[in-house]
Amino acid sequence: MSPLPPSPNLCQNDTSKTDANGRFFRHPEPEKPRTRIWPVFLSFKGCPGRCVFCAQPVQSGTRPQPLEATLDALERDLAAAVRDGRGPYELAFYGGVFTALPEPWPARFLAAAARFRQAGVISRVRCSTRPDACSPPLLAQLADQGLSLVEIGVQTFDDAVLAASGRGHDAAASRRAARQIIEAGLGLGVQLLPGLPGHEPATLARDVAETCALAPEIVRLHPCLVVDGTPLAALYRAGGFSPWPLETTLDALAAAVLPLWQAGIRVARLGLAPEPGLEAAVLAGPRHPALGARVRARALLALIAAEVRALGCAPAGLAAPRRFAGELFGHAGELLQAYADLGLPRAGVRFCDREDFHLRVQAV
Ligand code: SF4
Repeated sequence: MSPLPPSPNLCQNDTSKTDANGRFFRHPEPEKPRTRIWPVFLSFKGCPGRCVFCAQPVQSGTRPQPLEATLDALERDLAAAVRDGRGPYELAFYGGVFTALPEPWPARFLAAAARFRQAGVISRVRCSTRPDACSPPLLAQLADQGLSLVEIGVQTFDDAVLAASGRGHDAAASRRAARQIIEAGLGLGVQLLPGLPGHEPATLARDVAETCALAPEIVRLHPCLVVDGTPLAALYRAGGFSPWPLETTLDALAAAVLPLWQAGIRVARLGLAPEPGLEAAVLAGPRHPALGARVRARALLALIAAEVRALGCAPAGLAAPRRFAGELFGHAGELLQAYADLGLPRAGVRFCDREDFHLRVQAV
């Protein structure tokens, strides 16, 4: 791996404290909700065109079908869930532009969701959409009809990158949509797509700072992959695009998740879900079966490195919550040397039944 990711701003980590025994701090990741997501894939429905990177049917593992068939299948499957006593679930409309579906489809989907909410199998309803499909009257209407949260595909706040990606909207549209979603009383989600044409790790750092300022409830980080059949694949084959290398991506994502966590923002997803058929369709790009775990481990390393610096002397050891035992040293121990360089070899780290981390100044 490259040198340690940039240090988090410890001023934001108000759980840290130092006493005669060393330094104590907590992992900043917000708690995950227990509700499971019930995804409904709309496969390009409502899209005004095709963004260069997008291959919805492959990414979601769902064949395109008419909205009537999607609604019928949803109602049938939710009725079965009620009969079986499953749930509750958060219903999530992904893979298209929910707020740009032709009338009366948003209302029909939300009416179905409301019926199953009454039956106790649905707890919330969210959708993903484009920033330029979020007018205040529409958001107010959808909130009245039971929508709870809107995820906007921001991708980046860099206008040149958005133009090169064929998005058809600028960063101002994303900022406006985020504000309007919150003003409508809806939860906000932000989707970022690091590694698009012209996008650099430094641009991602600026995207994350802007995202923190918008105070969304959740963020998704999907590093850009080259999927066969997309305009980006043609550009890649013509030598006009190179995706980020895996190492660059892991470090950039690790540097991105820490400030998000410290701002109280949940990172709901790192990388695409491993749908059958996706791997075979990916021509190039940063992917790894344990991408999320590797990013989380590097983020934790950066946090601990910053705490060691704040300690102001060589640590005598680290006591860590047991739930981080499988994560701390990274995938296949790839971070062991980095911890040793911090003065924390494997023998100096122990895992205990505690909630906070303790950097010891003397062996106990
Ligand atoms: S990224 Fe969103 S708007 Fe663009 S083609 Fe894919 S689903 Fe449609």
